[in-house]
Amino acid sequence: MNKKTIIAGLLPDELKKIISAYKQPVYRAKQVLDWMFKKGVLSFSGMKNLPSELREELDRKNQPLSLYQELKLTSAVDKTSKYIFITNDAQSIETVFIPTTKRATVCVSTQAGCAFGCLFCASGKDGLVRGLRADEIVSQLLLVKKDNPHRPLTNVVFMGMGEPLANYENTLKAIRIINHPDYLGIAARKITVSTCGLPDAISRLAKENMQFELSISLHAADNDTRNRLMPVNKKFPLEMLIKAAREYTQVTNRMITFEYVIIDGVNDSKKAALDLAKLLTRLKCKVNIIPFNPVDAMQFKRAEKARLAEFTQTLDENKLNFTLRRSRGADIQGACGQLRLERTERKNLKDEGRGFK
Ligand code: SF4
Repeated sequence: MNKKTIIAGLLPDELKKIISAYKQPVYRAKQVLDWMFKKGVLSFSGMKNLPSELREELDRKNQPLSLYQELKLTSAVDKTSKYIFITNDAQSIETVFIPTTKRATVCVSTQAGCAFGCLFCASGKDGLVRGLRADEIVSQLLLVKKDNPHRPLTNVVFMGMGEPLANYENTLKAIRIINHPDYLGIAARKITVSTCGLPDAISRLAKENMQFELSISLHAADNDTRNRLMPVNKKFPLEMLIKAAREYTQVTNRMITFEYVIIDGVNDSKKAALDLAKLLTRLKCKVNIIPFNPVDAMQFKRAEKARLAEFTQTLDENKLNFTLRRSRGADIQGACGQLRLERTERKNLKDEGRGFK
């Protein structure tokens, strides 16, 4: 069992405490952070301006980060990279790097697996293993940054594996670290937390006085369809979710983004578009319409072009503030949890002696 303290998950005061315990001046803490978060040096031995006795002390009881990279796939189409990282207790988690001309976005995971079992999502297929610690969330960014030294990270989205608000404390601590100028210094408005819709946690977030963006996975505007797609809706139906969202916008004066993955024959009808426009009337929000990224093992298909056109035209006519997105990385299993799922299935086949290469 690894008992070492992971520096990537420490706020400044926590790190200063460690440095002081080694009878070193506290400015050494900032030097350690500079090496890790600005220069991408992820071993104590490489931190050349630290006294050798401090490097040795740090090395004995601490480690800079808590993951290692097992796999990386890069899309030939849009240069999106998907990573599989392994935790100290051998859990695999996924992280995606999405470079565009203007941005370099990292999509991080907050849990190994997920308890919520959304029907269109590979992450929920095997259930929840455990929540990730703040250091494991931050380590994903450190490794992606090191692997892409010429693209400063501009945006972070908490949309990978797991439900961030079901791992509330670790998610918020990771955001504080990512946002801090001595660490990655990514502006709060460039950080987006995505939830499947936990009303109590949304109400709690509203009181945090933090400026990051909140995004809610909606995917249906009637309870029957949403119950089918997202079992969480049976516990927290749309009425509860929209009430919490409305309160959130009132308390924070911030806009919420709703995500709507559009799926063939499930939520792509004209009536579904009308329901969506009605549900979100007078709510300070925008909606991202995202064509479904097909996952081999699942029963859904991408909506047909004509249906998609009718859907977006109906939203237009009803004056809903929306953007039609494109899903990226389809050629590298870009959908949430898909790569990890494939890895697990490959391993199972191997374990069963079925000769998978
Ligand atoms: S969409 Fe999010 S909440 Fe739903 S199963 Fe996937 S990771 Fe979990």
